[in-house]
Amino acid sequence: MQHIIDRFIKYITIDTQSDPENEAFPSTEKQWDLAKVLVEDLKNIGLHNVTLDDNCYIMATLPSNVAHKVPTIGFISHIDTSPDYSGTNVNPQIHKNYDGKDIVLNQEENIILSPDYFDDLLQYKGQTLITTDGSTLLGADDKAGITEIITAMEYLIQHPEINHGEIRIGFTPDEEVGKGAHLFDVDKFGAEWAYTMDGSQIGELEYENFNAAGAKVVITGKIVHPGYAKGKMINSMLIASEFIAALPKDEVPERTEGYEGFYHLHTLNGEVEKTELGYIIRDHDMELFNKRKAVFQKVADDLNSKLGKDLVHVEITDQYYNMKEKVVPVMHIVDIAEEAMKAVGVTPLIKAIRGGTDGSQLSYKGLPCPNIFAGGHNFHGRYEYVPAESMQKAVEVIVKIAEITATRELNK
Ligand SMILES: [Zn+2]
Repeated sequence: MQHIIDRFIKYITIDTQSDPENEAFPSTEKQWDLAKVLVEDLKNIGLHNVTLDDNCYIMATLPSNVAHKVPTIGFISHIDTSPDYSGTNVNPQIHKNYDGKDIVLNQEENIILSPDYFDDLLQYKGQTLITTDGSTLLGADDKAGITEIITAMEYLIQHPEINHGEIRIGFTPDEEVGKGAHLFDVDKFGAEWAYTMDGSQIGELEYENFNAAGAKVVITGKIVHPGYAKGKMINSMLIASEFIAALPKDEVPERTEGYEGFYHLHTLNGEVEKTELGYIIRDHDMELFNKRKAVFQKVADDLNSKLGKDLVHVEITDQYYNMKEKVVPVMHIVDIAEEAMKAVGVTPLIKAIRGGTDGSQLSYKGLPCPNIFAGGHNFHGRYEYVPAESMQKAVEVIVKIAEITATRELNK
């Protein structure tokens, strides 16, 4: 276990925060710092074909050790950490044999990781928790995934008695700014399917995510001296409030869960002459997703006809789609992961992601790619933590997936 903890700490103490404002690729130069270390580590454990391309994507190969033909599979994680919270000078704290009580992250500032608030902590009593010191995020998202993949590959190399086919691994930059899959070369990767190791708590296995669109509403008004405005002024902000009120009130993020979709107003900028609203539209079901977009457009159309002028302009752009459509035809890839978890004593928690993953974009690029737990909790903030035991189990799951994929071909 110490080995996996040491490796994890080595990676999280290298700052790799990405930047949504920067159009460059990768979005921050510092992602190269970890990329270069990873390339060395992959070579040192004995992987073949280790490459780092101009866009900061790493790929490597563990060659097959069996004579029969086995599909090439892949494991993927991301190098960057969230722009939401600082990843500079991460100072990890290790809490062995967690007693189920409050963990003081920072005494001076009274920053406490408490099971009263984060009750997930209680399932890890007796385990080794790795936390922050309260001043940064931890970076288990997704350096836990990177650590697990490398440790699993190392294990397979050291245990040649375990049968496996060719395994490809991929580490991407800029996942947290939604671009991790953008320049991922699926042909070069050459796997039949892959798994992102980027889920949260132990057992998570996900192959459904939202269908997603972004919508911009621009409302045009007319400014006139308020004292002499009767019949002349058009206040775009008041039209905007009608627009907002016309959408279903309960279909918002704070009132939905599970498979319930929503409209989410995330920005509002207005003056009399012009108001802009920024929305995201989400639904797991493609039919309902399309219906939502139609409803959104209709609210604008109805307002325009009521106003007798085209003042409300809507622009909807699809962002990503539910990977389920691409995974269900190859459902054995989920079954293998589920079987692997059970074989190593992990209870699979199969649920739909209320968001997207790099895997959904990769699935649409031809690489079906469910998501597996990396083990961390409370991503993107100072309360982030990961139990070392969960990372260890993720390593075992990866090894088992490789083994099942190889033996399954023999039993066909
Ligand atoms: Zn992640």
